[in-house]
Amino acid sequence: MNASSNPALPPDAPWIVLKFGGSSVARVARWGSIAELARQRHAAGHRVLVVVSALSGVTDALKAIGESADVGERRRLAEALAQRHIDFAAELGVDPALLAPWLAHLSELAASGGGSRCQGLYAWQAELLAMGELMSSTLGNAALRQAGLNSRWLDARDCLQAQPQPNQNEWARWLSASVPAQRDDELRERLAGRNADIFITQGFVARTADGCTAVLGRGGSDTSAAYFGAKLAAARVEIWSDVAGLFSANPREVPGARLLRRLDFQEAQEIATTGAKMLHPRCLSPLRRSGVPLWIRDTGNPDLAGTEIGPEAPDAAPSIKAVSTRRGITLVSMETIGMWQQVGFLADVFEVFRKHGLSVDLIGSAETNVTVSLDPSENLLGSDVLAALCEELAQFCRVRAITPCTAVTLVGRGMRGMLHRLRDVLADMGSLSVHLISQSSNDLNLTFVLDEADAEGLLPRLHADLIAACALPAEEDEVFGPTWAQLYAGDRASRPQPWWRARVEALRDIAAARGTPAYVYDLGTVRERARALRGIGAVSRWHYAIKANPHPAILRALETEGFDFECVSPGEVDAVREALPGLDPQRILFTPTMAGDDEFADALAQGLRVTFDCVEAVRALADGRHGGRSIAVRLDIGPGRGQHAHVRTGHDSKFGLPLADLPAFVEAAQAAGLVIDTLHAHLGSGVFDAGHWREVGLQLASLAERLPTVTTLNPGGGLGVPYLPGEPALDLGALGAGLDELRAAYPRLTLAMEPGRYLVAEAGVLLARVSRIKRKGRHVYVGCDAGMHTLLRPALYEAWHPVVNLDRPDAPRTMRADVVGPVCESADNLALDRRLPADTAVGDVLLVDIAGAYGAVMASDYNRRGRPLEIVLDGGAA
Ligand SMILES: *Cc1c(COP(=O)(O)O)cnc(C)c1O
Repeated sequence: MNASSNPALPPDAPWIVLKFGGSSVARVARWGSIAELARQRHAAGHRVLVVVSALSGVTDALKAIGESADVGERRRLAEALAQRHIDFAAELGVDPALLAPWLAHLSELAASGGGSRCQGLYAWQAELLAMGELMSSTLGNAALRQAGLNSRWLDARDCLQAQPQPNQNEWARWLSASVPAQRDDELRERLAGRNADIFITQGFVARTADGCTAVLGRGGSDTSAAYFGAKLAAARVEIWSDVAGLFSANPREVPGARLLRRLDFQEAQEIATTGAKMLHPRCLSPLRRSGVPLWIRDTGNPDLAGTEIGPEAPDAAPSIKAVSTRRGITLVSMETIGMWQQVGFLADVFEVFRKHGLSVDLIGSAETNVTVSLDPSENLLGSDVLAALCEELAQFCRVRAITPCTAVTLVGRGMRGMLHRLRDVLADMGSLSVHLISQSSNDLNLTFVLDEADAEGLLPRLHADLIAACALPAEEDEVFGPTWAQLYAGDRASRPQPWWRARVEALRDIAAARGTPAYVYDLGTVRERARALRGIGAVSRWHYAIKANPHPAILRALETEGFDFECVSPGEVDAVREALPGLDPQRILFTPTMAGDDEFADALAQGLRVTFDCVEAVRALADGRHGGRSIAVRLDIGPGRGQHAHVRTGHDSKFGLPLADLPAFVEAAQAAGLVIDTLHAHLGSGVFDAGHWREVGLQLASLAERLPTVTTLNPGGGLGVPYLPGEPALDLGALGAGLDELRAAYPRLTLAMEPGRYLVAEAGVLLARVSRIKRKGRHVYVGCDAGMHTLLRPALYEAWHPVVNLDRPDAPRTMRADVVGPVCESADNLALDRRLPADTAVGDVLLVDIAGAYGAVMASDYNRRGRPLEIVLDGGAA
C-alpha cells in the first residue's frame, strides 16, 4: 500500500465533501473514479470527506427485514444481504473479513426482531437501516486504501447528533431525524488530529442523545453531506450521481431541457421542492445557512460540467429557470356560505388537517371557498385517510376532493415582473382545466394545478413556449448549459455547427469589401437540406415554396436537386422562369390567395399547375376554355399550426376552401371540365410535430375516398427550423415514417410537399455593422445599419434570431442590450434583451443567424435606408 502519496496538509486546509449515491458505490469501476476524484481534490490542497450511500437496493432490503414479523424470513433476507456484500468485496478485491463485525451485528438484529439496547420498534428499524451505509463505507475505505490513498473510516454517528424537533412524532424521531448543523470546530480539530487528510463515512445515519442510532429519512445521504459540509465549513459539497445536474425540465419528458449551470440556493430549493428528483429538498438549508456551495456532477462523466448552487447570483434579473411537475396531487375544496368574515374558520379546518397528520401545500381562497393541495411526497395519503379527513371537515363546510391532479410550477426569480412574457403560456393554460393558480409569496414560483389527464404531454410544449417568449432566457449560457439530448442522447435531435462558424474571417472580409447590411447564403447548406428531404421516399414530388427566398442561385441549385417550384403570385412565376428559362411549366405550382379570375385563367393558359381555394374562381371558367386540365384544391381542414398567429393559415384565416363548400366546388369543376387531381392543405409555418403531415394527409385521404379523380395529396410545407438555442430540430425520420404509413394505407395516392423555410433558413446569415451604442439608464441599445427594413421577422412575428459579434466571437457575453436598427419606428429591432460582449464597439460586424428564409425577400426601402445586398457563396467562393 502506498500511503506516502498523501502528504499531510496544514490543519486549517479547507474541506471538500464528496457524496456518492447507491448506484455509484455498487459498481466496482466507479471506485476507481471515486479514488481519482478524492486524489485530485487532495492534491489541490483540500481535505476530503467521502460520504457514501448503501449499495443500491440494500436500504429497501433492510426495510423489508424491519417490516417482517417472520424470523425465518428475516434471517433469509439478512443472509442474502450478507452474501451480496461478501461477493462485492471479492469483486473489489478487498478482504471480506473486514465485514465480519457488521455481518454479525446484522444477523443478530434480524434474529432478535427488536429490543436491543435501544428500546422500541423504530429504534430497532433505524439500527437495521444504518447497516447498509456502515458496510458500504467499510468496503469503500478498503477500496480507497487499495488505490493508494491514506484514507480513514469515520463513524458518522460520532459526528452527527440528532435533535428532537417540536411536534415531531416518534417515527420521525428515529427514522427521519434532524441534525443541527453549524460550524463545528471541535469536529474540525478532532479530524485534523487523526493523521489523515482523506476520510470516508456514511450518509443517512446519525446518533440520538441517548447513544442510539437514528436515520435521516428519504434523501438522507445528500442531507448528511450537507450537514458535514456545514459542520466542517467546507469549501464546497459535491453530490455525484448519474446525471450531470438539475435541468430546466424533467429530461425524460423534455429532451430539449437545458442543464442549469448556476443557481442560487433559493431557486434550487424551489426546484427541488416542486418536483426535481435529483436533489432532496432537505439538503439545501444547512448549506444555505452556512454559505457552503453545492455542486452536482455525473460520476460516469466526471468531465461534464454540472450544476453549481451558491449564495445569490450577482445578476438577479427576473427569469424562469425551470418548469417542474408533481403528479398525484389531491385538492380539497371547501365550500361554505357562512365563511366570509367569520373568525376562526381557517383555524378550525386546518386543525382537522393537523389532526390527520396532513401538511397543506398550496392555498387558494375566495369569499365562499378555500381550496388547498396535498402533496403525496409530504403526506402518507391513503384513500382511507382522505375519506376520514373529508368526513370530519364536513361539519364545517361542503367538501370535495379533486384527484388526481398535477401541479405544474414555473420556478425563477422575479416571477411577478415577468407576467407580460407569459402571455402565450397563459393562453395555452386557458384551454385546460386549471383548478388552482398559486403564486408564492417569495416571488419564486407560479403554480398551476390541473387535471392529471390535461397535464399529459404539456411539459415539452410549455418548455418551448417559455423559451420562445424569452421568459426562460435559454441563450444565457452562463446559466443554461447544453440540452439533455446533447449530453446524453448523442445529439441526435439538435443541429450541427452552423456553416459560418468555420468562415468567420471570410465573412468579416466580405463585410469590409462589399459593405453592410448584407445577406450571405451558403448553397452547400441549401443542397444538404434538399438531399435530406429527398431522402423521404414516400414523397414523389417536392415543390420549393419560393416566397421564402427567390434568389436565382437558390432556385437553380434546387432545380438541380430535383425540386419543382411553388409560387404564390405571377411575379414569383416570372422569377422562376427568368432563373430557369425553358423550365417545363408543369413543374410550377401556382397557389395564390385572394387572386382575381384573370390570374387563375392566365396561369392555366401558361400551362402551370394551379391550386384553387374558392368556388367562384372555378365558376368563372364555366365556359370550358380549360376543359380537360387537372387542378388542385386547397382545403381548410382544421385549426392552423405554427409558431405565431401571423403564420397560422387554418381556420380563422382567409386561406382554404371551407369543407362545406367542397360539393359546390366539385360541381363547378365538373361544369368547367376541370379534373380535381390533388387535395391540398397548408396549415401554417414552423411546425415541429413530425406526425403533423401524416395527420393532414390522412384527413385529405378520407376526403379523397369520395373523389375518384384525385391521385395526389399535398399536405403542404411549414417544416419547422429551430431558431432558439437548444430547441430540438424536426425529426425527418419520424416525418418520413408517418408518410410511409399513409402511403401504405392509401397505395392509390401519391404525395407532394412544398417546404420553403426548411431549405433556406439556416443557409443564410445577415451581416450588419454597429453604428451607435446608446445608454439610457441601465438600458443599452446597440444600433446597427440593419433593422426592420432589412429583416422584418423580429418586428412582425417577434421572431428570435441568434446574434453574434463577429469581431469578438469568443468574448464572454456579459452586456445586456437591445439590438436595434436605424428606422424611425419603435418596433425597429433585430434582437431584444440579448447578451453581447461588454466591449462591443461601433464598427463591429454583427451576424444575425438563420436569416435565409423570409429575410431579404421581405426587406424594404422604408425610410429610404436602402435594401440589403445579397451575396451567394458556393463551396466557399463569393
Ligand atoms: C408559404 C407557403 C409554404 C411554405 O411554408 P414554409 O413554412 O416556408 O415551409 C407552403 N405552401 C404554401 C401554400 C405557402 O403559402
